[in-house]
Amino acid sequence: VRLEDYIFFSHCQSSTRILCLIGAGLSTPSGIPTFRDPSGWWRNYDPAELATPGAFRRDPAIVWQFYNYYRHGALTARPNHGHLALAELCKYKDSMSINQNIDGLCERAGHTSPELESAHGSLFEARCTKCSYVEVGSLTDPIVPALEFLEDTGIADIKVSMKDIPLQDLPFCPAQDCGCLLRPGVVWFGESLPYDPIERIDAWMDRGPIDLMVVVGTTAKVYAAAGYIHAARKKGAKTAVVNMEDNGEETGMAEPDWFFRGDASQVSPGIFEEVVGMFGEV
Ligand code: NAD
Repeated sequence: VRLEDYIFFSHCQSSTRILCLIGAGLSTPSGIPTFRDPSGWWRNYDPAELATPGAFRRDPAIVWQFYNYYRHGALTARPNHGHLALAELCKYKDSMSINQNIDGLCERAGHTSPELESAHGSLFEARCTKCSYVEVGSLTDPIVPALEFLEDTGIADIKVSMKDIPLQDLPFCPAQDCGCLLRPGVVWFGESLPYDPIERIDAWMDRGPIDLMVVVGTTAKVYAAAGYIHAARKKGAKTAVVNMEDNGEETGMAEPDWFFRGDASQVSPGIFEEVVGMFGEV
């Protein structure tokens, strides 16, 4: 054990309040690519360009099809040991995790509210573009009624299908006097984070000093989430980053107290094992 690792283990063990920021890199070992990875492109579309309000205004059908494909990928993926390690860590400590992922894998690893706030929404939700209607699918029965048609339109293999969804077959709001188009229940680039998770995260932050900030598999470039790293530091947190890239720019955080370079599914169990013991099987 390197001295710096030992110092990390003992700091982690003595920490009571831990804030985690989780990003797409935690799910890449489960087979869900990041948006920047060319293997994450769908039908030659750059996902970062589809995950915008402008793309949905221009072509809601293509955006819905992309999220169908994405949801399909998330359902066939399985949580990895990194998801399990963070779930255990957060149960054991007075912790809060800000999840930027929308794939449901943290939740399937047992990492759920109140220890986890999925600040970027979920692939298993749809909401109205006009009123406050929200439709929530469960992870075991994820295809919410209004979305069933998407599975029924012959898109058996969503990945290769080029069949476009006619506009009238898109999901519309069932709320009385509404009937407007539903959209995926996720946060797109350029949108602000939803109010409720922010309020709960802020309430947790306000409860006292923070001992440790753990940043796993995220570039932390998206502002609202990245701002929490600085806020945690101001509240006394030491910072630990787990990422494939050891560039401060990449992780949105220059000079963390600890940098663990490597695959989040392997590194995270290793560094938190000392604190929470061995993890079960995935
Ligand atoms: P990002 O693509 O900006 O950053 C991913 C980070 O993970 C990079 O810093 C990369 O170096 C690192 N990384 C890649 N593979 C890794 C591994 N195996 N182990 C450790 N680190 C690894 O992702 P982001 O910061 O989460 O932001 C992108 C946005 O896209 C978010 O809003 C998110 O909602 C959305 N998104 C979600 C998913 C998902 O739900 N799984 C996937 C792609 C994108």
